[in-house]
Amino acid sequence: MIGILFDRVLDPGNHVKKVWTITVPEGLREVLWKEMNSALVLGHRYYGTKSRKSDMGRVCLCGQEMSLRHILLGCIKYDLWLLFTVLEDALLVISPKSAFRTLHPDEWGLSPWYPILALQAIEENALPIFKGRKKMLKALKLSRPKREWLIGTYYWMLWKWRMKEIHEDSFVFVPTSCVASLQEALLWPCPMAESTAKTHEADLAPAVKVRLTDGAYR
Ligand SMILES: [Zn+2]
Repeated sequence: MIGILFDRVLDPGNHVKKVWTITVPEGLREVLWKEMNSALVLGHRYYGTKSRKSDMGRVCLCGQEMSLRHILLGCIKYDLWLLFTVLEDALLVISPKSAFRTLHPDEWGLSPWYPILALQAIEENALPIFKGRKKMLKALKLSRPKREWLIGTYYWMLWKWRMKEIHEDSFVFVPTSCVASLQEALLWPCPMAESTAKTHEADLAPAVKVRLTDGAYR
């Protein structure tokens, strides 16, 4: 399967195994792996459990078929804007200052999870030529594990909240009520924390607006 991501043609098959090596919570690895193998029990694959007859695993409260993409992107019934700003604030602290789109998950469009598998490939191969490119590549490399960890933790928490709501009668996922929980989760120690010790060097990276291809970045 060939896909287009950030205006680049990419073969997801080249990156699927990255799910086992990127820096994300273990539980998310399994979720992503199942998603890639069409084995995630959601949407039309969901038939409930003996003890739980809720239909929420099949259809979201907004009426759309439940899917990992739907969970990660949110919808009118689950406005994730406030939670996403929490993630953005955390990313801002450890990321190089740049408009490069891998640094801004809000620009990942309808591919909410695939870019996290391909961050390294995209950042090493798609960063255009510009003054300061070498320094930017270094800053991207140094901050990448921590960025993977923060985004992966954000995804993992969204998944857990939605699953809890599906499987527990007493739990209702209200995104605006989960801000403190997410802030706490984003403080979980990153397994690759030592790699981020030098990310302050990222501040030295040039503040430039870069393009993947002409006109690709608005
Ligand atoms: Zn929905």
